[in-house]
Amino acid sequence: MRSLTSVSEPASGLALVTGASSGIGEATVRALAAAGFETISAARRLDRCEALAAEVGGRALQLDVTDAGSVERLASEIEQLELIVHSAGGALGLETIAAADEERWRQMYESNVLGVVRVTKALLPALRRGRDPRIVIVGSIAGVEAYEGGGGYTAAKHGAHAVAQTLRLELLPEAIRVTEIAPGLVETEFSLVRFDGDTERAAGVYEGLDPLRAADVAELIAFCATRPGHVDIDYAAIKPTAQATAKITHRR
Ligand code: NAP
Repeated sequence: MRSLTSVSEPASGLALVTGASSGIGEATVRALAAAGFETISAARRLDRCEALAAEVGGRALQLDVTDAGSVERLASEIEQLELIVHSAGGALGLETIAAADEERWRQMYESNVLGVVRVTKALLPALRRGRDPRIVIVGSIAGVEAYEGGGGYTAAKHGAHAVAQTLRLELLPEAIRVTEIAPGLVETEFSLVRFDGDTERAAGVYEGLDPLRAADVAELIAFCATRPGHVDIDYAAIKPTAQATAKITHRR
């Protein structure tokens, strides 16, 4: 008879985390290493990835998910893989569609959508050699909601949401698990990047409420990645208690 309890699997094998130089990706490397995975930290800022890898005892590799050559170089370093966590991405600007900067929209699509596709495609052979392959995509509540000024980012994250759902269907016969994590407000470098380094404007995003920490999201990712083999957490949204939707928040 099948067990009636759901117990976490002891984590082992290699996990690749993109966007590991900061925020959710960085915290995820720590959470996965603590759970027992060997980790590869990858992002454009190699120095930060190397410092993190030294801290957790993993490897660091440089990666620009918008550059096919960079993704191929990364893939050539990895023979067998159990888990990919796609955290590389982010938003640029908060302009209305009337004022949209097409180049910034293109960059957001490149990193948040094509980046996930490129890395998945290049690493699927290594993942298929894994014992229990899993893919986690860090989407956003912006993948299922719209808000004024968010058009470029929400369009990209809706794209990432569609990629996650398509992968779930396409990889079903191979028992490769696919999970999309959709965070709300998380205090990371996200807003600093969105507002081109404007610290005051970035701080304003989190003012008057208690936002998620990167570690809150990382713990959820590690939880999803350590479920028994018959459990796939398809989609999980995680928000601060003070946030109901992308724009409806309760601020002090
Ligand atoms: P963050 O602190 O700015 O981290 C973003 C990470 O993505 C950095 O490590 C950055 O590294 C990496 N990255 C960006 N472009 C890249 C590229 N072309 N190639 C490789 N790596 C790239 O922000 P975060 O909050 O942790 O964001 C992580 C993910 O969560 C993103 O996909 C974001 O859209 C999503 N998210 C964030 C929030 C939030 O409120 N913070 C909410 C929902 C979803 P390098 O610059 O070193 O390459």
